[in-house]
Amino acid sequence: MPEKVEILGVPVDAVTMAEAVSRVEGFIASREPHLIATANAEMLMRATHDPALRDILCDADMVTPDGAGTVWAAHHLGHAMPERVAGYDMAQELMRIAPQKGYRLYFFGSAPGVADKAKAKAEALYPGIEIVGTRNGFFTEADEPAIVAKIQAAKPDILLAALGVPKQEKWLKKYKDVLGVPVCIGVGGTFDVMAGVMKRAPHWMQRAKLEWLFRGMMQPKRAGRLLALPKFVLKVHASRK
Ligand code: UDP
Repeated sequence: MPEKVEILGVPVDAVTMAEAVSRVEGFIASREPHLIATANAEMLMRATHDPALRDILCDADMVTPDGAGTVWAAHHLGHAMPERVAGYDMAQELMRIAPQKGYRLYFFGSAPGVADKAKAKAEALYPGIEIVGTRNGFFTEADEPAIVAKIQAAKPDILLAALGVPKQEKWLKKYKDVLGVPVCIGVGGTFDVMAGVMKRAPHWMQRAKLEWLFRGMMQPKRAGRLLALPKFVLKVHASRK
């Protein structure tokens, strides 16, 4: 069992992408519901002042190191953290093996039309993939029973929820057991990227560990959120024993 590294009170699994995928396969085989979160620096910072989110992450079946900040933090605290396991990349890995393994997926979240475009993209990229339903991520509480019923009826093995942090984690926590889906993952902007609504940082920027800067530049309204990163660095450093 890979080690868990505690970063600002949240245990993050020190897994490689291959290990993360193999654990997902085990979760699917068990048929029991599981919740997976992909923790970047922003999510870990938010968890320090959102106790409900922190509890969900502490309770999650797997928390992957999504982003250079999380990997850096583990190393700075003196632990091994083999590589970044971003939600977008893990989702692609799972879709890649889905046709041959017979895994069924459900896409829940993002603006109207985006999940459908992401579905079309997935069907082009991964021939034979079964996306058994889509639903956009804008709804009221009154809509939730119908959303739950649709997902239950579609019987996916993997539910990708892209409602943003922490909405997706809180929604999945609330409904995970009644949904009965073996693997529920919060995947943030994954459908936006697949649908071409949002660009992902170019590879050279990802390699230079600058994906956070790219996202801040592409979405000026989130530029304020860029400050979370230096704050994260200081907080992790201060937490070092
Ligand atoms: N989103 C949604 N419902 C909401 C709010 C956001 O489906 O009520 C979607 C939004 O359209 C986007 C995704 O959530 O596709 C992720 O949003 P964002 O990039 O702001 O989130 P984060 O980076 O925090 O995961």
